[in-house]
Amino acid sequence: MRCGFCLPTCPTYVLTGRERSSPRGRVALARAVAEEKLEFSRAVRDEAFFCLDCRACTSACPSGVRAGEVMEVCRDQAQSFYPLGRTGKALREFILEKMVPSPGLMEASMLPTRLYQRLGIQWLVRHLKVLNLGPDWMAKAEGMIPELHKPLRPQLPPVVPAKGEKRGRVGFFLGCVMTLMYPSVSRQTVRVLAQQGFDVVTPRDTKCCGAPHLSEGDRTTARRLAKFNLDLFMAEEIDYIVTDCAGCGAALKEYEELLAESADQRSLEIFRSKIRDVSEFLFEVGIREEGLVPVNATVTYHEPCHLCHAQGISRQPREVIKHIPGVELREMNESNWCCGSAATWGLKYSEESQKVLDRKLENVRATNADYLVTANPGCHLQLAWGVREADMPQKVLHLMELMGRALPPDSE
Ligand code: SF4
Ligand code: SF4
Repeated sequence: MRCGFCLPTCPTYVLTGRERSSPRGRVALARAVAEEKLEFSRAVRDEAFFCLDCRACTSACPSGVRAGEVMEVCRDQAQSFYPLGRTGKALREFILEKMVPSPGLMEASMLPTRLYQRLGIQWLVRHLKVLNLGPDWMAKAEGMIPELHKPLRPQLPPVVPAKGEKRGRVGFFLGCVMTLMYPSVSRQTVRVLAQQGFDVVTPRDTKCCGAPHLSEGDRTTARRLAKFNLDLFMAEEIDYIVTDCAGCGAALKEYEELLAESADQRSLEIFRSKIRDVSEFLFEVGIREEGLVPVNATVTYHEPCHLCHAQGISRQPREVIKHIPGVELREMNESNWCCGSAATWGLKYSEESQKVLDRKLENVRATNADYLVTANPGCHLQLAWGVREADMPQKVLHLMELMGRALPPDSE
């Protein structure tokens, strides 16, 4: 329709004021390439990667245009129009095709960082501000990494039994970033699900959901991972597949489309019908409130783009918050405005990312809440870093960490 309703919702259009950096402009570029009226120029490639894939435009579009997903396809095509050099190609292939799909290699890759933190090298590097001599992204990347603990994947029992009266059996999709960087969050998710009366099955062989591959334009590996996870979870006797990572949830819900030509349609439909974000799941089955203890805190909620825009889930996390005794929810303005993280976007475009983040932090500050709650590890990393850099008092929590505080101690 070219109505332009999407323009004010697009962070890159708001930052630049450029039509080509807007959803409407991007779709027009992609369409011109598809109709062979335009070459796949560097400008097309740059706009494909400059898009945050935040999907805010999809929420705003009356015609259901999905500019973010169109840009994912353009990123994939960009690999053949603008191939990397030999070293870049080998590195990219190793990371996307070997390392990320292997939980063991991913866990091993975090060891040097854990040693860096444990041996005091991090303290020295930060104290001497060594990384300020390098490019902006380097200091930011180092500053964003939370204190690392042992990955959760090898520690989680294959089945955690339900507490009290059993209500069902769920599969837990443990995301890569959650197990590596936020093991305490997913530990709380499993604890909450069990306390709510569900057996929690966590298949240890679960691989990355494929979201990083879609973001980086590697749809081939994304399909391979999707097929693996589809078969893995379809072999389990479970009522639902629950995740506490908005990015994983959005990717899992897109398997139906991603695998449309390479997997059994019926399996895809069943798989899709079982996927739930944890807030969506708790809202749907109803929160069992008996035994919850008061948390006594004020919280504000940042909506991850991959939850509110990609999955249409806005009300459910708020309802979960409202069910936690003692918690007061203070709404911030523009709660569904992107935080500027978007996988590696926040590092590649660190200056632009800072501007997007500043707008978010202003809205957080105005609430004067004790906690800033979110539901996606990428947002968590960016917001925790931003709050610390801006010397703000808010502590950033995942929704399940907040709910975990309301569980009685005997539900450990
Ligand atoms: S993408 Fe949708 S909202 Fe944006 S201009 Fe086109 S029709 Fe309008
Ligand atoms: S996905 Fe986000 S950044 Fe990309 S065009 Fe849409 S609103 Fe803009």
